[in-house]
Amino acid sequence: MQTELTATAGLLAVLDRRLIALRAALHTGDRAQRPAQAPTSVQLAARGALAAAERWDAQAMAARGLAPIGAGKAPLDLALLDTHRDILLDLAALERAIADRVAPTLAPPSRERLTRRIADLLPLASLLSDLEDHVHSELRRLTWRASAALGDTTPLVRITAMRCPVCSALSLRLDTERDLITCFNAACRCGENLCRCADGRRHAWRPSDLIGQEAV
Ligand SMILES: [Zn+2]
Ligand SMILES: [Zn+2]
Repeated sequence: MQTELTATAGLLAVLDRRLIALRAALHTGDRAQRPAQAPTSVQLAARGALAAAERWDAQAMAARGLAPIGAGKAPLDLALLDTHRDILLDLAALERAIADRVAPTLAPPSRERLTRRIADLLPLASLLSDLEDHVHSELRRLTWRASAALGDTTPLVRITAMRCPVCSALSLRLDTERDLITCFNAACRCGENLCRCADGRRHAWRPSDLIGQEAV
């Protein structure tokens, strides 16, 4: 299960970085261009409530002769806030699903420690193939969602813990959108005439195809 494990651990590391980037982008709005989305009614209601609260704060502060707190700061990006909250909720559910199977007495971690906890449980989760599949596909979905919210549509995650079984280079990438592992060595050919790599395309594996391969 070593390859699944390393691909899944790679996903978790990427998701952790995306969550940090999401938190950083909540106020700054410095993400790449995204297609404009109409706000949902819940978002509109939240926006209205936030604006009302800010107005109330401003009036209360003005009554005391003070400038409002946070004046001039970029408004909170509610779509990013929703995405960040949804991902944390799904991560918490995933942590419980793993713990139920491999460490049922473990208390839930704080939100800040969710990714660390899942990383700690991955080696045990990887021993149960149905659980590992679930963890892998959930992390893939959440990483993709976080990336899309940040306007980062590069779905590739480098796999550093395993060499290509064909060319032995440290050149494997996991495509989190299609759940395929490909070798990025342009010269890599498996020698099968019917394989896509014989046409000059990248040789590709499903993560499950590489189970049992030697890790680096
Ligand atoms: Zn290769
Ligand atoms: Zn091939």
